[in-house]
This record gives sequence, C-alpha cells and structure tokens, in this order.
Amino acid sequence: MLYSKDDQDKLKDRYLTPIFGTEASDEPLPKYKLRKDPVEPEVAYRLIKDDLLDEGSARLNLSTFCQTYMEPEATKIMAETLEKNAIDKSEYPQTTELENRCVNMIADLWHAPDDEKFLGTSTVGSSEACMLGGMAMKFRWRNNAIKQGLDVKAKKPNLVISSGYQVCWEKFCVYWDIEMRLVPLDEQHMSMNMDTVMDFVDEYTIGIVGIMGITYTGKFDDIKALDTLVEDYNQKNPKFPIYIHVDGASGGMFAPFIEPDLEWDFRLKNVVSINTSGHKYGLVYPGIGWVLWRDEKWLPKELIFSVSYLGGSLPTMAINFSRSASQIIGQYYNFLRYGYEGYKKIHERTRDVAMYISKELEKTGLFEIYNDGSNLPIVCWKMKKDANKEWNLYDLADRIRMKGWQVPAYPLPENLQDDIIQRVVVRADLSEQLGVLLMEDMNRAIKELDEAHILPHGGDQVNNKGVYGFTH
Ligand SMILES: *Cc1c(COP(=O)(O)O)cnc(C)c1O
Repeated sequence: MLYSKDDQDKLKDRYLTPIFGTEASDEPLPKYKLRKDPVEPEVAYRLIKDDLLDEGSARLNLSTFCQTYMEPEATKIMAETLEKNAIDKSEYPQTTELENRCVNMIADLWHAPDDEKFLGTSTVGSSEACMLGGMAMKFRWRNNAIKQGLDVKAKKPNLVISSGYQVCWEKFCVYWDIEMRLVPLDEQHMSMNMDTVMDFVDEYTIGIVGIMGITYTGKFDDIKALDTLVEDYNQKNPKFPIYIHVDGASGGMFAPFIEPDLEWDFRLKNVVSINTSGHKYGLVYPGIGWVLWRDEKWLPKELIFSVSYLGGSLPTMAINFSRSASQIIGQYYNFLRYGYEGYKKIHERTRDVAMYISKELEKTGLFEIYNDGSNLPIVCWKMKKDANKEWNLYDLADRIRMKGWQVPAYPLPENLQDDIIQRVVVRADLSEQLGVLLMEDMNRAIKELDEAHILPHGGDQVNNKGVYGFTH
C-alpha cells in the first residue's frame, strides 16, 4: 500500500471538494506571506481570476492604446511559446529568424532605402525603444562633439521635443542627464511648432524628436516640414548637424496603411531612427516595441553587443535581457495573418468608428473637437466655453464609468493646462456597433447629468488634475 488510509482519504477529499467548498476559498488570498500549503491548480486559477473580477473589461477601457484583443489562434501560439527566451539567439535560432523578418517588414513599411543597411530590434515597448534611440543620439552627438573640439562637459547636452511628449522621454532625459528642451504647444500649434522649433537647437543638441501621434490628442508632428528645417540648419552648420528620431509609438504602425503618401519616415533624409509599439496599432498584446535605424552608421558601435548565434555572432542592442519571445511571435503571426491589406482594412474601420464618435459628439453641441480621428483614430474634445453646464468632463467620465466605459478626462500639458479634455482611443476591437453603444451611453449620461443635482466642486478643475491620470 502506497498511502496510509489517512492520506488516501485526504487526497480523495481534495479532489472531490467543489472549488467554493475548499479551505482556500474560505479565507482571503495571501497578501504578505506564502501560504504554508499548496492549493489545487483549478482552485488557484478560479481564486485569482475572481480576484481580478472588479477591474472591469479591458475592452471598455478607451484610455489605453494597448491592444485588448487578439485572435484565439494568436493567443494560442503565444501561450505555446511563452518559454522561449528572446535573448537566447543560439538556443532559439528560428525565433530569432522571426524577429529578423519582422524587422525587415517594418523597414519596408517605413521605406528604409535600399542603398543603406538598416538595423533594428524588438523591445519590450516604445519606452525601451525610445531609450535606445535616445542613447544612440547621445553617443553620436558626443563622438562628433569631441571630434569637433567642443567642450562636452561645459554644458548638459539637450534634446528638443514638443511639450506633448510621452513620459518615456522625460525618463530618458533623467536617466542620461540630458536637458529636455520643450517646444510649447499652444492653441494655434497643437503639434510641434515649426516656426520656433529651431530656436531651441544649439551645438549641444543631441537630436530632435518628432512625434507621430501625440499621446494627449493623437495629432501628428509635421515631420516633413521638420526635415526641411533641419536640412537647412545642417547646410549652415555642417560641423554640428542635427538629426531626427521619430517617436511613432502609435502612428508608426498606422500611417503606413492609412496615409501611405504621407512622408514622415526614412523617405526623409534626416530621419535616422524610428520607434513604434507593436502593442498599439501593431495589434499585439503588450509588451512589444520596435526601433530601427536607417543605416548601421547611426547606431554607435559602443551600443552594439554581440551574442553567439548558430556558431557565429549576432549584434544585439536591447536594454533588457531575458524575456519571453511570445510577443515577437505574436507580431509575426499578425504580419502573416493580416498582410498589408488586412492591416489596412482593420485600421480603416477603426478610423471610421473614431470619426463616427467624433460626429456624434459634435451633434450634442456641447463640445469642441480637438482631434476628429481622421489621422489617428483618437477622438479628443473639450467643453465649449458657452456650453453652460453645471457639470464638467470629470463628471461625464465618472458617469459613463457606471456603464463600464473608461474615458478619462485630464488637463492638456504645460501652457494649455487650463484646458480639460476627454479622449477616446479607438482600437481594432471597438466595432461600429460598440461605438453606437458607447454614444448611446454617453448621450444618456449627459441627460442624467443635466437633470442631476450637481454638488459644486471644491477648488478649480486644474486642481483636480491627476484624478484620471494616464501615462500612455
Ligand atoms: C505609448 C507611447 C510611448 C510609450 O510606449 P510603450 O510602448 O507603452 O512603452 C512613447 N511615445 C508615445 C508617443 C506613445 O504614445
């Protein structure tokens, strides 16, 4: 006999006990210390799943750019490849091959010139990708500055970007001790101000970052105009030329399909590196990002490390080391599955829904639309000055939250911080019908707020900032 009677009874008991009859479900989940004893897998699954229950549906969260839907086959292959380590190129050479194919395809989408040798890598997201792009700019600047005899210690190097930057650039500047020079947004310039941007540039500038899809509003910086200004500057300042990195976190995987004629990428001479988030309009679950340089000369050698690969060596330039390769495989799945036309159809439909929402909002007569979803499918609005309502956008956000929708209200950046806006990020899984439901709920919420007895707000709206904070 393998077990004593006692043990056998125990085993039988555990197996047959219904999940909600188990000891583990009779007590709160452990918070500070490991439980002494294990819990059966199906019980652990259920208890954790339930612990997450009140977070609502990610698909109704219209504040995030990150994907909330993938096809079951994509999820399946990603789940089946979780154990593959993306950094381990020699153990998983075919996974490495898939990553390289993705880099090639993205380089093609971004018009990397045939006569240059592009280079790129997957990352955890755009934040890591921007960090790499920024580091390349800094090292490149320093190498040149030393060559030109500039005292590189006399001043902090600086980075020029619009005040609508995403927080990863602030991190980059703090981590690498760079002065962040902000080109302010204002009412007339809701993307980078091309009349003033070059005033911020000097010999200590490591580069200019153009944003394809300002996080706050979805607007594109005019990268083509920027390229012309930079070209002119470089003609006049050949010793300290400036180059452009494009932060295409959202636009980099959208514009190539929806506005193929818009020149913002490697078609422009001075755009030397670009990043994007595979988990935004690349349609993969978080976290995957990409960064590419148009030619290897733009990535200083100091930043390239070699790892062994199929008996040879392969350059790597990631900040992270071990992570699962399943996101890379998910990206390759989407590229194969959708093809150019598939991405185009999905994005077109997504944009249609955004424009529908924008039109419906306009019909209320209450809102001024900042972005109508016709470039990136992001709708962004503020209350009209003469709307004459006792409630504000924070109240509206609160009210539609009752139906599960998360549509944050928040202040615009510096200079415009008195403007409170509300934003909907339309993603691939928000169908026309879901858009219709959203607007029905929105109109109902407005009616309810109109009829409600509103308690006056303490302080001004600006002091409420951060209530619905968002960082992506
Ligand atoms: C989302 C975003 C980022 C950060 O991207 P992650 O992929 O979330 O790390 C950077 N820049 C812009 C413009 C963004 O929209």
